[in-house]
Amino acid sequence: MEPGIKYTKIGLPKFAKKFVKEEDFWKYLFKMRWPQGFVCPRCGYVEYSYHSTRHLYQCKACKYQASVTAETVFHKTHTPVSPL
Ligand SMILES: [Zn+2]
Repeated sequence: MEPGIKYTKIGLPKFAKKFVKEEDFWKYLFKMRWPQGFVCPRCGYVEYSYHSTRHLYQCKACKYQASVTAETVFHKTHTPVSPL
């Protein structure tokens, strides 16, 4: 797991507004979570399918569904861009 500590210094609401398109925001989150590309948190496999409606990345090997917001500060702060 990579550290997400440095992002806590940024006020999230103001920070999120920088992203004009929500899509860009999710791409950004993806980059934060998987800087080297997707890696399954469960089995380490690198191929995935993306569920755009739920912003989930499903591992093609074990079917684990990873969220870019899980285990990051964004998950805990209840960001307004959440589709839920
Ligand atoms: Zn997997």
